[in-house]
Amino acid sequence: MANNLGLAVKPVTEYAEEEVKKVCEWINTEEYKEKNFARQALVINPAHACQPVGAELVAHGFEQTLPMVHGSQGCASYFRSTLNRHFREPAPAVSSAMTEDGAVFGGQNNLFEALENAYVLYKPKMISIFTSCMPEIIGDDLTAFIKNARQKGHIPQDFPLPYAHTSSFNGCHIHGYDAMLLSILQYLTGGKQIEGRCTGKLNFIAGFDVNTGNYREYKRIFKEFGIPYTFLADISDSFDSPCDGVYRPYPGGTRLDDAADSINGKVTMTVGPYATTKTFGWIKDNYSGKHVSLPTPFGIAKTDAFVMKLAELFGKPVPESIKAERGSAVDAMTDAHQYVHGKKFAVYGDPDYLLGYISFLLEMGAKPYHILCSKGSKKLEKEIQALLDTSPYGKDGKIYINKDLWHMRSLCITDPVDAIIGDTHGKFVARDAGIPLFRFGFPIFDRVNLHRHPLIGYQGVINMVSAICNKFIDIVDETCDDRHFEMMR
Ligand code: SF4
Repeated sequence: MANNLGLAVKPVTEYAEEEVKKVCEWINTEEYKEKNFARQALVINPAHACQPVGAELVAHGFEQTLPMVHGSQGCASYFRSTLNRHFREPAPAVSSAMTEDGAVFGGQNNLFEALENAYVLYKPKMISIFTSCMPEIIGDDLTAFIKNARQKGHIPQDFPLPYAHTSSFNGCHIHGYDAMLLSILQYLTGGKQIEGRCTGKLNFIAGFDVNTGNYREYKRIFKEFGIPYTFLADISDSFDSPCDGVYRPYPGGTRLDDAADSINGKVTMTVGPYATTKTFGWIKDNYSGKHVSLPTPFGIAKTDAFVMKLAELFGKPVPESIKAERGSAVDAMTDAHQYVHGKKFAVYGDPDYLLGYISFLLEMGAKPYHILCSKGSKKLEKEIQALLDTSPYGKDGKIYINKDLWHMRSLCITDPVDAIIGDTHGKFVARDAGIPLFRFGFPIFDRVNLHRHPLIGYQGVINMVSAICNKFIDIVDETCDDRHFEMMR
């Protein structure tokens, strides 16, 4: 064996070719699948990221806010590169760069120095601090550290420093999102509630959503309705800013004044209930106005519910333009359903997106068949089952909670499906199973611009229908014999 320089490479362990072939065949069997599902102490290719990734995403969604990782630099690089590779945009964040001495004596001095440097060098309006595993394992106390930093003059007394403990050995990116958003809102709205004041606005939370097209689509719908809004944790410009030769470290984000005043809102709505459980619970107890939690509006039924709720809450009729979009989406589905009807899908991802994929597939007459969430709960399982029970196309769907993509591989090989919906991590399963992967989730590292194509709302329905059905038509064109290579499909 030679490497790319033509030099001989001696493998550490050598295996006979027949042995490799035998194992390759064995991992495709029912016997192996049973062993795979019996595994307990090992996770292989999980379909989630660690908590701080979600915390960093939230921080990027606020005006001139610098995300700060209290922990090791390697972790910070991972969070930044994950966001950076997904959006193909910079994800500027700093870290307290804890090393061995910090792990032994605690990271307080690292945090002091990091705050001093970040405040002077990057001139943020707010620094959002969240932890990686190392300080969580040794029990670093951010409440005390930040109090001490202010007392010792490392950072001005009144400088906004929301913080969250985002231990990564517990939960995943959606929980980090929730923890950081809660802390930012608690910090900014502290003492801002005014008796009798109502901003007249909708406070809107998208949940852990890394599709900038979705954010723009929500805003467009609010504009069509004429509903004034504050989009909390708005990452649309942060991760989709124009390339005009000027580097802006903090493009976009929710204005801090607007976020502070959101506590006096008319309505606060989340469409990412699983990614905002704690935040929304706190909002219900503390925010004025009405509080509404809806599923992410994927597919027709969930978008209808979203649109009708907006109309009801703000006493406005559904705009004619939105009604026309609904008609277009239904038309697109009708024109294309023949290409997807009855096809079996494997789906995996975050709970809010997963429920959306399932709704959409059922509406198209497709079968969500292997349904997997690698950080789920009994509540999620029940909700998925209830959704499957609403349609004859859901009757064969099987749910796998807290399983990983190596489990998914066994499922797709031993009980084949026609396609898989998820994120880039599923490409290995898709290749081994010989099926297409539709990249709607997070992260997407191996395709460009998908985060600019909305998946929510009626426009999202059209985009999903087009992506899925055209791929199936491509497959027919690529695999048919000459006699069946037709102009019309
Ligand atoms: S799991 Fe822990 S150690 Fe690994 S990148 Fe995330 S925070 Fe760092």
